[in-house]
Amino acid sequence: MEDKGHSIPTQQEAPSEFGGQPATTRERRKKPRISDTPPAAPPPAQLAEYEAIIGKSQLDELRFLADALRGKTVKMVNSTALGGGVAEMLNRLVPLLGELEVKTGWEVITGGNDFFEVTKGFHNALHGGEYTLTQQACDVFMLHTEQNRQRMNFGEDFVVIHDPQPAGLIASKTAGATRWVWRCHIDLSNPNPEVWKFLQPMVERYDAAVFSSPAFARQLSIPQALFYPCIDPLSEKNKELPESYIQEVCENFGVDRSRPIVTQISRFDRLKDPLGVVQACKMAKKYVDFQLVLAGGSAADDPEGAVVLKEVMDAAGDDPDIIILDLPPWSALEINALQRASTIIIQKSLKEGFGLTVTEGLWKGKPTIAGAVGGIPTQVIDKLTGALVHSVEGCAYQIRYLLTHPEFALQLGRNGREHVKENFLMTANVRRWLLLLRILSGV
Ligand code: UDP
Repeated sequence: MEDKGHSIPTQQEAPSEFGGQPATTRERRKKPRISDTPPAAPPPAQLAEYEAIIGKSQLDELRFLADALRGKTVKMVNSTALGGGVAEMLNRLVPLLGELEVKTGWEVITGGNDFFEVTKGFHNALHGGEYTLTQQACDVFMLHTEQNRQRMNFGEDFVVIHDPQPAGLIASKTAGATRWVWRCHIDLSNPNPEVWKFLQPMVERYDAAVFSSPAFARQLSIPQALFYPCIDPLSEKNKELPESYIQEVCENFGVDRSRPIVTQISRFDRLKDPLGVVQACKMAKKYVDFQLVLAGGSAADDPEGAVVLKEVMDAAGDDPDIIILDLPPWSALEINALQRASTIIIQKSLKEGFGLTVTEGLWKGKPTIAGAVGGIPTQVIDKLTGALVHSVEGCAYQIRYLLTHPEFALQLGRNGREHVKENFLMTANVRRWLLLLRILSGV
């Protein structure tokens, strides 16, 4: 890999040439200590541990709601076990429902590159992007759907299918008692008509659909519910961290904590606009001093990731203050530390589902600048819980403004944390699932 002084290899020795960087930075960056294999998953937090955050009465309410569902079985199905917001959420939701004695399993569909190329195309098309649906794409989608259907059983009381990739599994629905839910995490407000026409008949066979915002929903013949996505305050990504660990991670990645740090965490995906972030930072840097950290990886179901990463590295050029980290998917603690070390969090998405990275930044009390798209305005209320932007210039302006108005930035961060506490924590999500499953089973 060519060293441009801004890309930190995480799974190999850094290259020997380090341009004009100071020696200390060179040393720090030499051996980033991040494991190249997934570490053992930490034990999931117990329900009782949430009491300190949400209080006893809310916890009791969850136990009460779960009573009528005790012993029922649920299967969650999505397209990736690691990387991306859906996997992140399922990792916590599944054990918590289990602890409430609603037996919940989680399966991941398989597929070759051809399948994930097609589903990535569908994903972009459903977000309104240009796309021409071909018979071949439909055939690839159906072929892998069939292969997954042959492999899987659906005898549970509830089957919950997440997003379009596994939506075709509904072909396994029988006249039996199993209730099928389609949990759509993406924005369907303006889908490519051809792709939607292909998927709609599948979706309308479900017993209910769940969307993340009223604005994302479609006119459907089945009942719909609104669930905000959520984060787990006790997960590795969001729990409190010792200051010494935050410092260690920054040193490891060559991030200087004596200067402001502006961070965007997200997959290297065009819809996250990492190039726009680089441009905005270059503009703002004419007026204020800071480092930009762009940290992310490419989720297993996103073949475009490497191409976008290369584009971002080219755009960053040899600027030593732009630190690009290509992280493996098991970097929750490192991401948590980077977010906590940040002065400002950015999520300059052009299209977005809900934007869990925004929720994570707000929960950490960070002033957050984010694109006014998808579910972001539900979280970032402009000038109250953060700053909404619509352009590169707007983003540059807000970086400059917040770095030069620290009191205001601090207040945004405080408000943002409260907003998340009220609305977007995992326990609120568990509550919504319990209510929906009770409604579907008539108890
Ligand atoms: N994330 C991660 N590693 C990365 C990039 C993102 O663990 O390299 C996490 C991020 O912290 C967040 C989730 O993946 O929890 C991304 O969710 P979001 O809704 O922001 O975007 P998505 O990737 O689902 O479009």
